[in-house]
Amino acid sequence: MSPTSIYLHIPFCKHRCAYCDFNTYAGQEDSIPDYVNALIREIDYVASQQANYSTSEPGGTAIHTIFFGGGTPSLLSGSQFDAILKALRAAFALSADAEISIEANPGTISHEKLDAIRDAGINRISFGVQSANTEELRMLERIHDFFTVIESVFNARKAGFDNLNLDLIYGLPEQTLASWKTTLSRIVDLHPEHISAYALTLEHGTPFGSWSSKGLLPLPDSDLAADMYEYAEEFLAGNGYVHYEISNWARDIDSQKSKVEDPTCSFRDLTPSYACRHNLQYWHSHPYLAFGAGAHGYANGYRYSNALRIKTYIERLVDPSSFTSHPFPLSPAAVNQHKQTIQDDMSEYMLNNLRLTIAGAVESDFRMRFGCGLLDVYPKEIEELIHLGLLESKTSGISETPEVYRLTKRGRLLGNQVFLRFV
Ligand code: SF4
Repeated sequence: MSPTSIYLHIPFCKHRCAYCDFNTYAGQEDSIPDYVNALIREIDYVASQQANYSTSEPGGTAIHTIFFGGGTPSLLSGSQFDAILKALRAAFALSADAEISIEANPGTISHEKLDAIRDAGINRISFGVQSANTEELRMLERIHDFFTVIESVFNARKAGFDNLNLDLIYGLPEQTLASWKTTLSRIVDLHPEHISAYALTLEHGTPFGSWSSKGLLPLPDSDLAADMYEYAEEFLAGNGYVHYEISNWARDIDSQKSKVEDPTCSFRDLTPSYACRHNLQYWHSHPYLAFGAGAHGYANGYRYSNALRIKTYIERLVDPSSFTSHPFPLSPAAVNQHKQTIQDDMSEYMLNNLRLTIAGAVESDFRMRFGCGLLDVYPKEIEELIHLGLLESKTSGISETPEVYRLTKRGRLLGNQVFLRFV
């Protein structure tokens, strides 16, 4: 059984960006101290229920990654991160080499704060850069410019962070292939260990969603967006980044070539060393606990989520002992819970693992979890997708039976068509 991960949601932003539909609120920073106290109460409550959880160890559930997502986690102070991490260490068995990440907006994290969060134990930062083009950043209503990105990366390196991700969005209104190429080249010049590049999605209820429905958003057509994606694949590979998930690239310490030539090496071993271990937990369909307003978790057979609003979340945790007992890992803040069936787990296994461009959906892993093979459950779907050129199978070299199914180059562009078959 894999160790568990932890996600903590920090739903505060200085300003709401025009395309964003995340559970986050601008202008509520006064609530941060109460929110941090509520998070600690939720951690303590969930920990008090963990005794019978299957990955529980004498010191509590074994945890190997923690991720502070948002919102803008970098709005919390070093001492607030310290207090939350102390509560997590007291509650669970955190591994010595745990990956502990925060999302940060360039410009919201001073040199002093970087030192403080490093001292608190955070060892990975994911900066929401989105673009290196001033006009594009303005259109997205981001509060930073690219100079601030350079400064933030420089300060993070100075504070000792040796694992940085830079997040990008492509397919922006009026974006050209030339401007996307410039963004990628400027990002690579900053030598991050990890790069994420997501296509812009128009979400209902956002200003971008409403402008687009009125025909006011000149978006690149799908061919141009596909060209941007293909250029990223080619350019990042040429600069030493391994494309390990549909939208994610990472540097590797060892050469991929020597790994490929090693006959004992499995497809999973080809995952680059700087891959985000926390996100791999989701893509491998392994368990994670969730804390905070609107946070989603998956553990002990449950998928669950907490109350969205900051005020409701805090109120629900004022006195957790006054609530009736909740099964692990649910807390009094949970408002949705679903007991997973084996069919849910199998379907999610395919949706998550097929996002992994090298490791894919693994026959031996699926068999170990569910007691049957991939072709026993999805014969028609797999055959059809291979026939359409969206999926490919690979053998391990030890047996003739396919060990891995993964997206082809075309499948990566048309991922949704693949995933739909397994819903
Ligand atoms: S900073 Fe991030 S989370 Fe906050 S509004 Fe902008 S996109 Fe959304």
